[in-house]
Amino acid sequence: MDAKELEKQAAEVGEWVAMREAKGEAFLRDVNVDGVDMTPYEDKVIVDVGCGPRPFVEFYPARAGFMLDCCMREYQRERLLQPETPKKALCVDCMAERLPLRTGAVDHVFSINMLDHCYDPESVVAEFRRVIKPGGWIHLNVDIGGEATPCEPIVFTEERLDAMFAGLQLVYKDRGTPSHPGREAMVIRVYRWADEAALTASEPSSEVPVGKDVSVVERSLQYLACPVCRGPLQWKSDLLCEACDHTYPIEDGIAMLKPA
Ligand SMILES: [Zn+2]
Repeated sequence: MDAKELEKQAAEVGEWVAMREAKGEAFLRDVNVDGVDMTPYEDKVIVDVGCGPRPFVEFYPARAGFMLDCCMREYQRERLLQPETPKKALCVDCMAERLPLRTGAVDHVFSINMLDHCYDPESVVAEFRRVIKPGGWIHLNVDIGGEATPCEPIVFTEERLDAMFAGLQLVYKDRGTPSHPGREAMVIRVYRWADEAALTASEPSSEVPVGKDVSVVERSLQYLACPVCRGPLQWKSDLLCEACDHTYPIEDGIAMLKPA
């Protein structure tokens, strides 16, 4: 990771710390999922990419839930994460351009106010497309227009988004107030990989029993992949790639899965 990326990550953590100071601790817990129909998410694999420190995935009745963010370790150090969150969803420090997930493993990707924070959003979306399974969904929420900033270096147009998600079925489209001042609008879209041939392909089987006695890491392992070579991971005290022997520690409950 280059110095520019590290600087941006420090700025993002700083923004969350400042928001906590300005709005209070409750701000970091205040995620309203009341009224959301949870039926489509039951027993699914759900991933929030660039999630920030607020709980979200843990409210969904998922088979496995993942919170992925390049600043996750820093959020934990700054005590921005709720203590319960890493016990309910696997919290991972990783890069969205190189997701530590197996190909075709995910039912729902959430990308909420993150794509304009990446330097290489085309690579990020290529990863979303790689990890969703046939029939899988991408829930997108991103600011367009306006000026680039250190934390939001990308200025999107609707046309650029159209090109990135070409070939996926657009099942919902809306516009709202931008998440950041200086942007033109927030675009809300839901895409589905609705390839009919792929939809009839068999679902990957679950090898790990799901229950409250199964730890988050155990439940998550079958969906994880090495961010370097995409090989399967083993869990001892660390995560170990069976293919390339890279070792990825779990620090303070956070799986450290950035490519070396
Ligand atoms: Zn590997």
